[in-house]
Amino acid sequence: MSDSPLHTLVSTIHERKFCARYMLGVSGDGIIPVKEGNDKLFRATLQRNFKFWNSIMVFLFTERTEDDVERLLCDLDQCSCRLLDPSVRQAHQNGRKWERDIWYRTCPDKPLRPSISLAVSFFRLLMTALNQAHVRSVAKRTSPIWPTCPDDLIPFGPDNLVHGLFQWSRFISDTLVFKVAAQILRLCGALVLPAFIASRFTHHVIDAGRHFCDHVWDVIRRPHPVKSKQQEFSISFECQSDAILSYFLVILDDHKFQTQMDMLEGYEVKSVQLFSLWAYLASDDRLGPRRMGNFFVDKFQQIGVRLYRVVEMYFSRLPDIPVFPGIFDDVEPHFERTDAARSDMEFTMSRIFHNNVVG
Ligand SMILES: [Zn+2]
Repeated sequence: MSDSPLHTLVSTIHERKFCARYMLGVSGDGIIPVKEGNDKLFRATLQRNFKFWNSIMVFLFTERTEDDVERLLCDLDQCSCRLLDPSVRQAHQNGRKWERDIWYRTCPDKPLRPSISLAVSFFRLLMTALNQAHVRSVAKRTSPIWPTCPDDLIPFGPDNLVHGLFQWSRFISDTLVFKVAAQILRLCGALVLPAFIASRFTHHVIDAGRHFCDHVWDVIRRPHPVKSKQQEFSISFECQSDAILSYFLVILDDHKFQTQMDMLEGYEVKSVQLFSLWAYLASDDRLGPRRMGNFFVDKFQQIGVRLYRVVEMYFSRLPDIPVFPGIFDDVEPHFERTDAARSDMEFTMSRIFHNNVVG
């Protein structure tokens, strides 16, 4: 992939010369190493193309109203490319291939517009680039690969960044946006933290996570699931789970108690409940075969326990919280109070889903 054509392509998206499918087909070369886990190739090629990344950040975080975004997406969905040109035709074929790949990781039971696939692919590329970045070299501005410094991640200021993350997460319904948010929090720290707290970004992550859990719950209760669909859904469940875990790991690992409470304020109990639900879903056989075995059940339990301990320190009197049995087993031996969590063994999944806990 040569440097300037790709950068030019992204930086001129607004001129509407090409449709989203064409752009996906052309920028897909960057996705190949992402898909194959070839980080070395990604670092050696795409991650040194600083102009490309700056164009991606400008595209994603330019201030827009909801109507502006919808108009932009509609324009990108319209194809008036010169399909008689073999290279343009080939790019469209490649684009379709990437759309399928992105679709089954995001939400395989709903159709995905080409423009949304393009936005998801940009977030996927961003996630891979940020995975390779080192906090220290980014902070010292000595990183030889993008991002070279925190400013690269905040092109229009912290408030605008958080607004953009909010907005994209509503349009593309992929928790991947929250993983990128977590990575930016980790790399930029105090520069962006006040904007995340002021906007109650964590509330939004919890609400989106709950929405996803409700959807999964609906899907796994459907009678006679088709086996191949079950497998696709299981892969998307793991991709979406990984992103939510990443967000909460950054909150719990990188920040002190008071910051954790500031981020959770008003949603403390909901956070524990979310991880209880997610642990239930991750352990449900109806989701189909899991590539990673019990990895996600264990992880959701661990985060659930850690969140419970944060919540327990905060409340003078805890509300009655039904929790996943694995979480209960871990916190129960340390109870000193009678108003704490109780095992959810007697609760069925449907009762939890319909039990509105005050958060
Ligand atoms: Zn086209």
